[in-house]
Amino acid sequence: MIDTHVHLDRLDDGPALLQAAVDVGVTGLVSIGLDPRCPQQLRGPLPPGLEVKTVLGLHPQEVRDAADVDAAFAVLERRLDAEPSVVGIGECGLDARPGIGNAALHQEVLRRHLRLARRRGLPVVLHGVRRDGALLATLDDEAGVDGVWHGFSGSKETLLAAVRRGLFISVGFLALNERARRLREAVPAIPEDRLLVETDAPPLAPARIKDVVAAVARLRGTTPEHIAALTSANARRLFRF
Ligand SMILES: [Zn+2]
Repeated sequence: MIDTHVHLDRLDDGPALLQAAVDVGVTGLVSIGLDPRCPQQLRGPLPPGLEVKTVLGLHPQEVRDAADVDAAFAVLERRLDAEPSVVGIGECGLDARPGIGNAALHQEVLRRHLRLARRRGLPVVLHGVRRDGALLATLDDEAGVDGVWHGFSGSKETLLAAVRRGLFISVGFLALNERARRLREAVPAIPEDRLLVETDAPPLAPARIKDVVAAVARLRGTTPEHIAALTSANARRLFRF
């Protein structure tokens, strides 16, 4: 299994948590950035047998003001030049939860990520909370970028609109919630070649990717082995494992 969304630097007791993930069959993960100025490193050694790819970007919750965004992007460009393990841009996107910055600036910063991704030929990792329509409209304005909508929580219609724009859809811990009816209805509609899985750890432990895979399999009426195989193949394709 490949977990496409983990915040490595936020894991307490990371080496043990990742060993537990390897023990249940995780062979790869994508380490996701919140701010390129953070080293984004595991505190301790990586377990053997685990391949890690890195994605760097500025999460909407880390967007403060225009000058700070410029400073973050200068570091981001430098790290893209220097670190060959970086395989994507993000996470970036729109988030309308109260207290998470200003919508106009979020929009501008998202465009900047999309342009950078297109210029560098890298996929984006998108975060969208309560701004689904605006996220899709921005993708239309900045077409020609590959990527994934991470932690998808939207409707089947939003899902199909995202797939039409070439995005992968990553299903996370919300699939474990019996009451997340909208997502549970959408999961069977994800095309096989567009489906990814993630834990977004922490707080969920990385080994629980096994439960996410099992839940997705149940919702799609297939086996966990099938979901593990196809999501791993998709992750390898998108993130160049
Ligand atoms: Zn995240």
